[in-house]
Amino acid sequence: MTARSQAIQEALSGMDIGKILYDEPMSRHASLKLGGRVDALVMIESEGQLGEVIQRLKAGNIPFMPVGNLTNIIVRDGGYRGVMLWMHGLDQVACEAEEGGQYFIRAQAGVGLSRVVGLAAAEELTGLEFCTGIPGSVGGAVWMNAGAYGAEIKDVVSSVTVIDGRGEKKTLRREEIAFAYRRSNLPADVMVCKACFILKKGSEAQIRERMSQIMKWRQEKHPLQYPSAGSVFKNLPGLPAGKLIEELGLKGMRRGDAQVSKQHANFIINKGRGTAQDVLTLISLIQEKARKERGVELETEVMIIGEKP
Ligand SMILES: Cc1cc2nc3c(=O)[nH]c(=O)nc-3n(C[C@H](O)[C@H](O)[C@H](O)COP(=O)(O)OP(=O)(O)OC[C@H]3O[C@@H](n4cnc5c(N)ncnc54)[C@H](O)[C@@H]3O)c2cc1C
Repeated sequence: MTARSQAIQEALSGMDIGKILYDEPMSRHASLKLGGRVDALVMIESEGQLGEVIQRLKAGNIPFMPVGNLTNIIVRDGGYRGVMLWMHGLDQVACEAEEGGQYFIRAQAGVGLSRVVGLAAAEELTGLEFCTGIPGSVGGAVWMNAGAYGAEIKDVVSSVTVIDGRGEKKTLRREEIAFAYRRSNLPADVMVCKACFILKKGSEAQIRERMSQIMKWRQEKHPLQYPSAGSVFKNLPGLPAGKLIEELGLKGMRRGDAQVSKQHANFIINKGRGTAQDVLTLISLIQEKARKERGVELETEVMIIGEKP
């Protein structure tokens, strides 16, 4: 065990925490199947526990960050020095009908979007179909304001319960959150612990039809047979990043085992033993060429964290 892992163990000693993985390679957990080691991956099992863990890590001056399904993160090969708070244990989701014909689904941060979408369909509630096939968690989706096919999380969320950097819990109405394109603009030290989605009554057959249409589009357009983190770059106004990368002639470009997908140029796929550095090299090459040849700045949608090797 490293000295850093020991400091984390001491900070959390006496707490009833389910699972802690020390010095854990991100290649085991991230959807890209690559990335360096994190000092500790701590499975959070309740909102109360999350508050206490935050307070203890703060007191011990140990950096930390929340993660969901790790489908939008690249951890540099040098790893992440600190604790990743893995929200998987916050896994409660329920549907509530309220007066006035409004329907709500409340889901904790660690619930997979696919589960929320499935519950909505079973309850004949429409509004979340656009999330079909997005592999993230509720917490990650709210944080990133995930979106697809013309809709975003901000369109269906009515409130978000967060725990702030002091470990205090509060519920924010949608109007209090400055959602933007793939950003929630929540303060950096805030963690989403649950979200409430507001939905309308619909027809189950129509909802399921829309879901299968979206899944079919995804299967046709996206290289789902390879590990990836979804779209690497944000689209530019009026210009999808994938189209630009294709026009720059970079489809299929390869560094090590990382490759700009031949199927969808805004995806970088891992063809086996790719490293974070391979992916980051491709990202820099694409950005450089876009700048030089088209005068535009491509901003990454994926979060890049951690240390250089
Ligand atoms: C095949 C594929 C297709 C995809 N398609 C889409 C798509 O159509 N649209 C789209 O928007 N995205 C898409 N994505 C990207 C990704 O699934 C989404 O961005 C998703 O919302 C990320 O959720 P996550 O739980 O995996 O977050 P993570 O990758 O674990 O984290 C992402 C960011 O959110 C933060 N975060 C995570 N949980 C919390 C929390 N509880 N509180 C505060 N911050 C938190 C993390 O700190 C990090 O900064 C796709 C990814 C893949 C692999």
